[in-house]
Amino acid sequence: MSSSPRRARSADGATHTADVVVIGAGIVGASSAWQLARRGLSVIVLEREAAPALGSTGRSAAGVRVQFTTAPNIALSMYSLPIYRTFRERHGHEVGYRDIGYLLLVPPERWDDHLASVALQQSMGAPVEVFAPEDAPRYVPMDPGGLAGVTYGPWDGVIDPHMATHAWVAMGRDAGVSYRFRHPVTAVQPEADGWRVQCGNQAFSCGHVVNAAGTWSGLIGRLAGLAVPVRPKRIQIFLSAPIADERTYPLTIDLGTGVYLRSEGDRILFGMDTHADDGFTEGVDWRWLEQVLLAGVDRYPWWVDLGVDRQGSWWGYYGVTPDNNPVIGFNPGAACWVDACGFSGHGIMHAPATGLAVSELIADGRAHTLDVTAFAHGRFEDGGVAVEANIF
Ligand SMILES: Cc1cc2nc3c(=O)[nH]c(=O)nc-3n(C[C@H](O)[C@H](O)[C@H](O)COP(=O)(O)OP(=O)(O)OC[C@H]3O[C@@H](n4cnc5c(N)ncnc54)[C@H](O)[C@@H]3O)c2cc1C
Repeated sequence: MSSSPRRARSADGATHTADVVVIGAGIVGASSAWQLARRGLSVIVLEREAAPALGSTGRSAAGVRVQFTTAPNIALSMYSLPIYRTFRERHGHEVGYRDIGYLLLVPPERWDDHLASVALQQSMGAPVEVFAPEDAPRYVPMDPGGLAGVTYGPWDGVIDPHMATHAWVAMGRDAGVSYRFRHPVTAVQPEADGWRVQCGNQAFSCGHVVNAAGTWSGLIGRLAGLAVPVRPKRIQIFLSAPIADERTYPLTIDLGTGVYLRSEGDRILFGMDTHADDGFTEGVDWRWLEQVLLAGVDRYPWWVDLGVDRQGSWWGYYGVTPDNNPVIGFNPGAACWVDACGFSGHGIMHAPATGLAVSELIADGRAHTLDVTAFAHGRFEDGGVAVEANIF
């Protein structure tokens, strides 16, 4: 149980005080800061970049989906997707949600398990449709050979992660959140009743810290002497030259090869899951492009002529944990420290639920709207949560 939240104290020379300091102004930090402020807590967000969403958030493929295999992840999606679908009506901000769908192409060896997960999704209220392989080319031109079946999520689609983050920043400011950009956190020390977070020679004193530093959360934890099991995984996304087809392709993932694509305007973006763990290396890996094209061309024979826009292709980090699920909860190494990080490939889609859970953990001592115990730190010592198979 956390200590009860403090009210803001007035600034004391170079020391600024708040109930909560959130480290990181990506989509998770921005969602959390707004939720905390609307509960009446004073919040300061510290971000090293000059603007929001310049970490993984601004480099994602922007997909949102309900098609997970474990109940805790489906529950986060079932809370979050309706928020995105109705964001403008609820909050007066546009977040760019488009229901282009996710189309999952399933090989025979995964079909039975996949159908079981579809049944779980449907039992939790998620709209998911099951098709024969021959129906798949209605969505994307392909050779459906070797597939056992196809599933489609009509709620699934994309948002604009920049818009969503900026929306929460604006809503947070309206609710009193103080955003400090160009503020890299350089030191963190415990205090009698909370934490002292240092950005160079500026100090921020607070009751609680929310570690929402994405891929860099492990480094932030280390500053405070805390173990936060998040490491970087570099991901590549390639952009094609314009293609002739005017249809909008859903986010289509071949579960046999890990190759994925979706429409991006009159082009496609595409890539393939990689298990490489090359740490904080940077840049587009052009050797990987060849692997992706080779892995995808049998399914998509039209890739033989696919032009690639080298300027438009990009890379970014997944912040991954040992089981590719996020850590959402109190750090066992210290009081009043909440980690909300390690979202791997699903932090965009789960940001609304995470912000809510973080605010309840701090304001109420536990998350009660959604059960996030599956994402608590303790799972690693306890042998891990049920493994999520649909990590892309
Ligand atoms: C190529 C790619 C494709 C993806 N596709 C999807 C997808 O389709 N759907 C989906 O849901 N997710 C996707 N993701 C994952 C998603 O982008 C992340 O899970 C999500 O952005 C995490 O948000 P965040 O706010 O936790 O982290 P970030 O957006 O990385 O924010 C963390 C912030 O902390 C700041 N920070 C770090 N260190 C410090 C410090 N010392 N002091 C102050 N600030 C600091 C950083 O500058 C950054 O702004 C993808 C990611 C990549 C790279």
